[in-house]
Amino acid sequence: MKELNRAAEWFTDSVIRRMTRIAIAHDAINLAQGYPDFDPPRELTDRLAEVSAAGPHQYAVTMGAPNFRRALAKKCGRYMGREIDPEREIVVTIGSTEAMVDTLFALTNPGDQIILFSPYFESYMAQIRMAGCEALFVPLAPPAYGFDPNALEDAFRKGVKAILVCNPSNPTGKVFTEAELLCIAELAERYDAYVIMDEVYEHIVYAPNRHVYMAALPGMWERTVSCGSLSKTYSITGWRLGYAIAPERIMQRIRQYHDFNAVGAAAPLMEAAIAGLELPESYYDGLAARYARMKALFTGGLDAAGIPYADPQGAYFVLADVAPLLKPGQSDMEFCEWMAREVGVACVPGSSFFREDVRGIIRLHFAKKDETLIEALSRLGGIKKKLGAAHKLYNM
Ligand code: GLN
Repeated sequence: MKELNRAAEWFTDSVIRRMTRIAIAHDAINLAQGYPDFDPPRELTDRLAEVSAAGPHQYAVTMGAPNFRRALAKKCGRYMGREIDPEREIVVTIGSTEAMVDTLFALTNPGDQIILFSPYFESYMAQIRMAGCEALFVPLAPPAYGFDPNALEDAFRKGVKAILVCNPSNPTGKVFTEAELLCIAELAERYDAYVIMDEVYEHIVYAPNRHVYMAALPGMWERTVSCGSLSKTYSITGWRLGYAIAPERIMQRIRQYHDFNAVGAAAPLMEAAIAGLELPESYYDGLAARYARMKALFTGGLDAAGIPYADPQGAYFVLADVAPLLKPGQSDMEFCEWMAREVGVACVPGSSFFREDVRGIIRLHFAKKDETLIEALSRLGGIKKKLGAAHKLYNM
C-alpha cells in the first residue's frame, strides 16, 4: 500500500504519556506525567457545577469565548506588564500543546530551522517535525543549566526562523534570568528570528528566582509568541485550556491554524475557568508557596534517599541521577519500567529530553499531595542501598 506520512517517522509516541500507561498497569505512583493529584480551587469547581446547568454547551467563537478572552487578557496583561488586546492578540487553544503547534505552523515553512535548548520538553521535537522543520540544539549544561552565548550565536548565525524557550523550564526547573533572556532577545533581534515562549509554569517559581516575560523585554513584543496554559496555574490539566499571545500580524496566522485544527476550546470549561482568572493576586502567591513546600518535602526525601538531583528554580520537576543503579546494557527506558514495576514509582527516562547521550537521568515530578509524596519517597528510599557514591553527575 502507499506510503504513510513521513514526518511521523522522526518521532515515537510521547514517552511521558507512555509512562502514565505503564504506571497504571503496575499501580505505581505516577511521578512521570506532571499533573496534580489535588483539587482545583473551589471557585472553579463550584462555577463548573453552575455552568453544567446554565451552559454554554455549544461552540464558542473559534478564537475563544469573548468573556474568557477578556478575563485572560486582563490577567496575563497584569503579569506581563502590558495591555493585551483580547480581540486581536489572543487565541484560546486546546492546551498549550495546540498553541505551540499552531504557532510553529504559523511562523515557519518546511525546511526552516528552530533553535531548541537541550534538554527540552519532548513535544517540541515532534511538533517541529510535524511542521517540516528542523531543530538546532544548544546545550544547557548541568547542574546549573546555563548556556554558552557563543554557541547560541553560532546557532542563530545559521539563519534560524525562531528559537523556542521553555521558561520556567521543563524538565530542568531552570528559570532564565533577565540577563539570559536579554542575551537571547538581543540575538533574536540581530538575526531577525522569532521567539516562541512556553511559559506554562510562570507561576511556579521558587524565591529568590523570578519569572521575567520575554514579550515584555524592550523590542521583543513584535517578534515573540507567548504560549501559556491554565493547566498548571489552576490545577486543571484535564480541562485542556491553553492560549497564545502575540502581536496581531502573527496572531492572524496562528488563528488560521487554530480555526481549522481545533474549531475551539471547550465552551463550558472556558466559562467556568473565568472564576480562576479572576482570583486575586494572593492566589498566585499561595500557589508558589504551596509548590515550594512540596519541593522541600520531595527534595528533602531525595536527600535522605541519597539520590543526587539538580535543585529546580521553578516548575515542578527534578532531574535525578540514578546512573549507578542501571545494569550494564540496561537502557534508561528499561530502568524506568523496572522502577514502575518493582519500586512502584513511575518516572520519565532522561533520554526523552536530552539531545546528548545521557544515561541514568530520570525526571520525577512533585505536583502531588503530601501523602502521595511521602509514600513515593518511602518507596524510593528502598533503592538507597543500591546507590553507590561512586558516580555523581551533580555536585550536591
Ligand atoms: N507538561 C507535563 C509533563 O511534562 C504534561 C505533559 C503532557 O502530557 N502534556 O509531564
